[in-house]
Amino acid sequence: MQDVWKTYPNGVMAVNGISIYIKKGEFVYVVGPSGAGKSTFIKMMYREEKPTRGEITIDGKDLSKIKEKNIPYLRRNIGVVFQDFKLLPNLTVFENVAFAMEVIEESKENIRKRVMEVLDVVRLKNKARFLPHELSGGEQQRVAIARAVVNKPAVLIADEPTGNLDPETSWEIMHIIEEINESGTTVVMATHNRDIVDNMRKRLIAIEGGRISRDEIRGTYGYEI
Ligand code: ADP
Ligand code: ADP
Repeated sequence: MQDVWKTYPNGVMAVNGISIYIKKGEFVYVVGPSGAGKSTFIKMMYREEKPTRGEITIDGKDLSKIKEKNIPYLRRNIGVVFQDFKLLPNLTVFENVAFAMEVIEESKENIRKRVMEVLDVVRLKNKARFLPHELSGGEQQRVAIARAVVNKPAVLIADEPTGNLDPETSWEIMHIIEEINESGTTVVMATHNRDIVDNMRKRLIAIEGGRISRDEIRGTYGYEI
């Protein structure tokens, strides 16, 4: 990101001049108080929001130059995981994960092979035919992670992925995300989870008032809440 700003139509200045370079393969936590601009910062990375000013380049591509119709192809290179999972309730685990490949018109055979491969990574091969409501929260988040990485994206973006999970389940999710990072995927993860940040040390970016207030190689959470 090069001098990125975001003012919402209602006048709220959410991001106020952020410049940052994240290397391929890095794991970066994004922390900061509520309302600091973390989600806006993250949403601009997958083009859910457009910056008012400044430039965002991912894997050599200027995001502002991608046409609406090509956004599914951008999403292939950038997987996203949310706090509330956002699975499609009427599709099975298999279908939820396969959907991301169907959108980009992969062959049926490739889809079947790759979906089972990625369900193996998140240890859910035996629940491929289950519906989301038949799964625990941690399992639903594992499906969401499988969906996010099924197209082998360069970047995995996670916005509070453990926000709705108990501590033990949160650690399971973190170990899977760490495994995905170790296989070469860059990870950017917004979190309020002090226990995770302080015990699985990674690069840490703190955002306050829409600006970067800290950028540490193996940072600690640092806030008292
Ligand atoms: P965080 O993720 O750190 O809680 P956000 O990026 O969600 O911060 O919000 C930063 C600021 O932008 C807040 O003041 C919030 O109310 C405002 N904001 C977020 N989304 C919108 C929106 N769609 N329209 C207007 N203001 C927004
Ligand atoms: P948690 O401990 O997270 O609350 P649950 O009690 O929701 O977990 O689920 C425990 C196990 O039971 C999970 O493996 C889940 O897949 C399975 N399960 C939960 N609800 C259903 C259901 N309605 N049908 C089939 N399996 C279910």
